[in-house]
Amino acid sequence: MENSKQMRTWLDDMKLDHPLVIAGPCSAETEEQVLRIANELKDTDVNYYRAGIWKPRTRPGMFEGVGALGLKWLQKVKSETGMKTCTEVANAAHVKLALEHDIDLLWIGARSTVSPFIMQEIADALAGTDKIVLVKNPVNPDLALWLGGIERLYTADIKNLGAIHRGFSTYEKTKYRNIPEWQLAIEFQNKFPDLPLINDPSHITGNREMIFDVSQTALDLNFDGLMIETHFDPDNAWSDAAQQVTPSKLIQIMKDLKIRKESDTEAEYNSQLSNLRAQIDVLDSQLIDMLGKRMKISDGIGALKKQKNVAVLQSNRWNQILGAMILEGEAKGLSEEFVLRMFKAIHQESINHQEKIINA
Ligand code: PEP
Ligand code: MN
Repeated sequence: MENSKQMRTWLDDMKLDHPLVIAGPCSAETEEQVLRIANELKDTDVNYYRAGIWKPRTRPGMFEGVGALGLKWLQKVKSETGMKTCTEVANAAHVKLALEHDIDLLWIGARSTVSPFIMQEIADALAGTDKIVLVKNPVNPDLALWLGGIERLYTADIKNLGAIHRGFSTYEKTKYRNIPEWQLAIEFQNKFPDLPLINDPSHITGNREMIFDVSQTALDLNFDGLMIETHFDPDNAWSDAAQQVTPSKLIQIMKDLKIRKESDTEAEYNSQLSNLRAQIDVLDSQLIDMLGKRMKISDGIGALKKQKNVAVLQSNRWNQILGAMILEGEAKGLSEEFVLRMFKAIHQESINHQEKIINA
């Protein structure tokens, strides 16, 4: 099914000629810091000014935010610069304070989305509001949990909703702080095509050098906007120092990003696209056919191992396959990351097939 946006949302009503941009520091640190960054971001394409007031930190003893005091600083940002403001809320008390201080947009952090109790508490506290509420994906790659959180808000009659994709934690060491799992975000768009979806490259990358590339990928995938942490002195920020960019860097990023249209009606473009897609469809069928054949061979290996009572997993053999495939993949322009993921999935399926036979 084509992903078509049909409902008008708060974002359409903004009538922007560029993706939505939310920017500002990870944390509000001092009144001067909050106002200085806001002043450097006003009169740019930034639509909302962010600053975390209550900071969810993984371990105690780190800077946990300035608390309600920071809400007054955000009010000052609004009166001095005219910028709209936003902050993270993580319980009913936060919601009450944020509403009292007329924060324009609230977001729910990844560590809150994982908890249905917290989501329900926030939904109840926000019931009927016309503020914009954005729900970050949960820390774990669980699409249902993300959707469930949004449904709780929707059921509480919160109409101006959206989502933020900030990546997922993983035990594996990768170049990302939180792996994007783009496929999951695409599935999210298919489930809720009308819900504005914002990308947060700061928490995905954890590294300011990678912010541009991840932002561009997000725009290439039809994301509606970006949330980018911005600080005039990133290295000395009180939280998330490595991933924040300076206001001037942010302006450069926004200038360099290529904004893609969702589609085009020109006949020549559409005929070439159909042709290429037809080729992809043929190859995809072949891939499935080959994988089916490969698993039949695994079944044969399973039967042999059963006869001799040999273990399913043979680590040496597996490492050999992986090494060889990474090299072959490289020669065909496939990234090591992709080849590893693909072969891990194939290997797991192979093990499942053999297990079934050995234990039959
Ligand atoms: C944040 O936006 O500063 C934040 C804490 O994000 P997340 O919930 O994605 O970790
Ligand atoms: Mn942060």
